[in-house]
Amino acid sequence: MTDLSHADWKDRAAKLTFRTQVFIDGAFHPAASGKTFASINPATGRALAEVASGDAKDIDRAVRSARRAFESGVWSRADPAQRKKVLLRLAELILENGTELALLDSLDMGKLVADAATIDVPGSAGIFQWYGEAIDKIYDEIAPTAPGNLAMIRRMPLGVIGAVVPWNFPLDMATWKCAPALAAGNSVVLKPAEQSPLSALRLAELAMEAGLPAGVLNVVPGFGETAGQALGLHNDVDCLAFTGSTEVGKMFLGYAARSNMKQVWLECGGKSPNIVFHDVKDLDAAADMASLGIFFNQGQVCSANSRLLVEASLKDALLEKLTARAAKLVPGDPLDPASTMGAIVDERQTQRILSFIGAARSTAKLVTGGERVSVDGGGCFIAPTIFSDVSPGDALAREEVFGPVLAVTTFETEEEAIAMANDTIYGLAASIWTNDLGRAHRVSERLRAGTVSVNTVDALSPQTPFGGFKQSGVGRDLSLHALDKYTGLKTVWIKY
Ligand code: NAP
Ligand code: MG
Repeated sequence: MTDLSHADWKDRAAKLTFRTQVFIDGAFHPAASGKTFASINPATGRALAEVASGDAKDIDRAVRSARRAFESGVWSRADPAQRKKVLLRLAELILENGTELALLDSLDMGKLVADAATIDVPGSAGIFQWYGEAIDKIYDEIAPTAPGNLAMIRRMPLGVIGAVVPWNFPLDMATWKCAPALAAGNSVVLKPAEQSPLSALRLAELAMEAGLPAGVLNVVPGFGETAGQALGLHNDVDCLAFTGSTEVGKMFLGYAARSNMKQVWLECGGKSPNIVFHDVKDLDAAADMASLGIFFNQGQVCSANSRLLVEASLKDALLEKLTARAAKLVPGDPLDPASTMGAIVDERQTQRILSFIGAARSTAKLVTGGERVSVDGGGCFIAPTIFSDVSPGDALAREEVFGPVLAVTTFETEEEAIAMANDTIYGLAASIWTNDLGRAHRVSERLRAGTVSVNTVDALSPQTPFGGFKQSGVGRDLSLHALDKYTGLKTVWIKY
């Protein structure tokens, strides 16, 4: 899959057929309203497909289908070994159809197809495999009660899970919600982002092929204000799992309060600090990873290391290395394996990033980038951008840009670095570079972040929980801890 040439990828892209309708009860249907919306390729500005625009009616139909499947027990009460078999088969099918899934995400939202094929697709398959393998190895509990009593503490699936996900990793964000929710025996109604619905629709079809019963996974493409809100407000949804912005995450808390008090789990934004101390062992490695930490996926990563806090004595040396690395990142056709940067998801997001850059020009020092770039005469592309001398109060140091823009600030002491790092409404991720083990422990303990990476960035695996403190969210994705979101404890007490 990874040795395909630019011509091979273009050829495969030209032959793709898209799934574009709502997927309910195991089959594709037009939206109840008959309406569609265009899915745009941001690298070219051209429409890829007309996709069904699901709204409250489609959501209601999908929830009813999910509820029927749940109550029937066909999946919710299936032998865990059977659920394992289906999820493992789905993992295989994701890999077998990997070039297609990689192309769908690349065309839909502009990421490099080579990254999609080597990171997103195996990542998704690996997570379905991990939860498939886990689910028949988890035991319930028996409480230490008095003689003549047997109190079993059972972990039960919740019922119908609504999942609302963003566009930055379309296949993977859908997977992070669906894999543990399905493994635990729930039914799911998934609403992908309007910018990137195509891979989720194909995933639902592959899940059926793997043996998932009809109605257990439903996918309703559409807009947040219609389909997303309807799912959040639905009285028969037991739990809503969201990934996206903090602003919209708060709306879901409101939807739950106004409807049935459904559980709400939120993976939201970040402004993650990457702290480089003077005693870093390998400044080249720190520069490589700082560059990856902000420019991977064009900076459209919730845990992007968008604030670089560098000890003042190292500033010039590190900036020189970072500038050299940025110079090698040249936006190009996402289908060309030689391209080192892809497109921004859409024109709106491109304008938003450019407005942050415009404002920072007068408050900080532009080191490199700062420009929109055109590829083959157009597209949504922005050069990798670095600002130094960013003061902690600037918008660039406080707001989530969600683009390839790094804000560099210096510090003098460890205390100052910790205070600056924590001076944010977010608490998703953080990185520390130091060769001093004591400092690594001291600082990681005091950083308010769901993941602290030491001498690396964005450390992440299916085995470890992912999520944030403060306004980065509530609850954790990945690992066995994600199952806490999709199950409820039931005590069964037998007197004998
Ligand atoms: P977003 O605007 O919050 O959208 C996320 C999802 O919510 C989309 O499916 C969207 O639908 C839907 N939505 C939007 N408005 C809604 C409303 N009023 N009611 C109900 N649903 C609504 O976020 P985004 O711009 O797609 O994604 C970027 C954000 O995601 C960033 O803040 C990033 O940090 C965050 N993110 C977090 C994580 C994490 O794990 N913490 C991971 C990845 C991304 P539409 O597509 O129609 O707008
Ligand atoms: Mg698109």
